[in-house]
Amino acid sequence: MNLSDKLSDALRVDESHTKALARLGVTTVRDLFYHFPARYDDLSGATQTGSLAKGQKVTLYGTISKAKVSKGWKSKIPMAQATINTVSGKVKAVWFHQPYIAKMFPEGVTVKVEGTISERTTASGGASQNAMGGEFYLSNPAITHASVIPDETDSLFVQEDGDEHGEPTVGTLFPVYPESCGVTSRWIYYAIKKLIKGGALATASSGVPPEAGKQIVDPLPTDVLKRLNLPSLGTALVWIHAPENNKDADAARKRFAFEEIFFIQLKKQQERHMTDSLPTWDIRPTKESVDGFLSKFPFKPTSAQSKALEDIFADFAGTRAMSRLLEGDVGSGKTFVAAATSFAVVTTRPPKMVQSGPAFPKKSDLQKMAQVADGKQDFGNLQVALMAPTEILATQHFESFVELYRGLPINVALITSSGCKKFPSKLNPNGWTNISRSQLLKWVANGEIPILIGTHALIQKTVEWKHLAYIIIDEQHRFGTKQRAALARKDKNLPHLLSMTATPIPRTLALTIYGDLDLTLLDVMPPGRKPIITKNVPPSGRKEVYEHLRQELEAGRQAYVICPRIDAPDETDEMALQAKSVEEEAKRLAREVFPEFSVGVLHGKMKSEKKEDMMKAFTEGSVKILVATSVVEVGVNVPNATIILIEGAERFGLSQLHQLRGRVLRSNHQAYCYLFTESKSQPTLDRLKALTKAANGFELAEHDLMLRGSGDLSGKKQWGVSDIGMEALKNLKLVEAARAEAKRIVESDVFLKKYPELQKALAERGEVHFE
Ligand code: ADP
Ligand code: MG
Repeated sequence: MNLSDKLSDALRVDESHTKALARLGVTTVRDLFYHFPARYDDLSGATQTGSLAKGQKVTLYGTISKAKVSKGWKSKIPMAQATINTVSGKVKAVWFHQPYIAKMFPEGVTVKVEGTISERTTASGGASQNAMGGEFYLSNPAITHASVIPDETDSLFVQEDGDEHGEPTVGTLFPVYPESCGVTSRWIYYAIKKLIKGGALATASSGVPPEAGKQIVDPLPTDVLKRLNLPSLGTALVWIHAPENNKDADAARKRFAFEEIFFIQLKKQQERHMTDSLPTWDIRPTKESVDGFLSKFPFKPTSAQSKALEDIFADFAGTRAMSRLLEGDVGSGKTFVAAATSFAVVTTRPPKMVQSGPAFPKKSDLQKMAQVADGKQDFGNLQVALMAPTEILATQHFESFVELYRGLPINVALITSSGCKKFPSKLNPNGWTNISRSQLLKWVANGEIPILIGTHALIQKTVEWKHLAYIIIDEQHRFGTKQRAALARKDKNLPHLLSMTATPIPRTLALTIYGDLDLTLLDVMPPGRKPIITKNVPPSGRKEVYEHLRQELEAGRQAYVICPRIDAPDETDEMALQAKSVEEEAKRLAREVFPEFSVGVLHGKMKSEKKEDMMKAFTEGSVKILVATSVVEVGVNVPNATIILIEGAERFGLSQLHQLRGRVLRSNHQAYCYLFTESKSQPTLDRLKALTKAANGFELAEHDLMLRGSGDLSGKKQWGVSDIGMEALKNLKLVEAARAEAKRIVESDVFLKKYPELQKALAERGEVHFE
């Protein structure tokens, strides 16, 4: 057997499993071995149901039956109910206000349930009845997917060499795998077990960790493993699926976490190496020019903005193109930085036309530029492209630039799939005008339009530039080197790149996914902002909040209602469940709470056109309440929206809550964020309280990472980092080591000629992780 063998050749796998495995990205033996447990259950801690007592804290492992949604008899509170069938008996559980739990954990799934035993006196011959005729049950227990339950399995690692008395011992750590519709954790466990028994890992037959067998070639250089004290691939594979103890499991996870980050860093370092070696535009704005632009505004740049301008201008000068990330919360002034640096670019002539740097245009210059705009002169200044992920965001950037460039004879244009605009308009120097696409393309190609803002329409082949020198991209972390070089097209010079993001991510994640970029933080907010009033709301406070919401709506404001995050084993399921909960909540609000206002919905199942239509309706104010999932886009500016309600707040990470809250930040009115939570757990409430105190999103992202783990980082899936890779992000030293090792190798051997196995593995992964 070879690791690259098809799984169906190595094992008996029926068609439905083959399909389901393919959805998990598993087709070969290697894929299955690289499908790592999400965690381990230590079944030695399970409670026996025979000895339950009121008030007892219990941990139960079992399968679900009789899962259903119902309503409280008197209270009409929506809830989920289920029975947990453990090896030692059955216990009922209810989840008030969390009906979605019944859908997340349907009939037959294996779960781990933790909570405190309650007792109800209505004797009805139900499960786990106690001597007094009462019935034990669990109210709102924590529930998660679990591993195989102990009676149906023997440990993969029965220690044949035994304990100190020579008796065989059985491990109590059982792996829990990420599931997909159609493949359970249990199935994966047994499949891996068969493969290992069948010799897939060469000598891994019992508890003795194998030496790296013939089939397993470790792509990681031995000296790197040694320096970091990491196990070899063969050993790590056994340790990760069937650990004898937590220490081995941790060592294996650390190895794979390192491996993943190291591969990403290698790619990023190779990219950086390539961009650094290409020629670029040498841009040196004068101080007067920049000061001239800045003096147009009634405010001074914040200290963070000044630092950002310094960083960027330093990068502009010289022979290497800038590759920089500008990270800052919504409202921290990124667009302003983009506009000021763009100004420096578009007032610069290409080197062959002028020797010295640009100056802030004098009156005579302005006249010249105006002539240029009239087509009387060849327009040859450097150009800027600003790309945003959606039409709404692109339009907002255009509007900001119109505001910031008012009075300057510099053309700014917008291109999206639904049309083109140009500022200033000939008739109205303070406004913009619609122009045709062909006209726009002509003016970009001859340089008459120096600043073009747009969506992906911007990078289509039909857009030709005269001298594209600066690319600014907003919230698009996957904008690669190839796209960057392709944008400039016929120019030999690589444009400078500024990537902007308001997504709060911790430093380790930034170092990884933006490993090829230098980092500038905008961690100071412009003065005079009214902070958002943020409050945690217990169930009893709901009515009052709705009343406040009504007052805001009556005063002409608008509101967001965010439905809880739902985790399902399958992404498609998750989207469907979330869409359903959004639609149900919108119906309920429209019917029962706010019949007098129009309620709209926005979720990931909607076609992108429908989404844009809805955002437009909300932006224009015809929809007053927008019920949405958390996945819908961030950063949209609807100044009239002053209030956001977040349901099931405890199900979100802090950074995600912060980002959601950012949607009401743009208002001139006082903004409010209400966090609904059913949780009474003190740590949860404390965690939510952090939101009322933290200075910025990055602080909260760090908080998340340390408190609850990487699963809470917003948009984890979008980073293209696996669960195990995300684990590495808790460990700054490990991430820095991966970066340093990758840098060291790439600096001496960009194409990894001396590391053929590494090169091969990197090429294989590249397809999975980077496209
Ligand atoms: P971001 O793009 O980071 O969300 P913007 O650049 O759009 O932030 O800035 C948000 C608002 O703050 C804009 O109205 C902008 O004009 C204003 N602004 C930017 N910088 C400053 C500053 N230094 N002082 C005061 N207001 C500022
Ligand atoms: Mg430079």
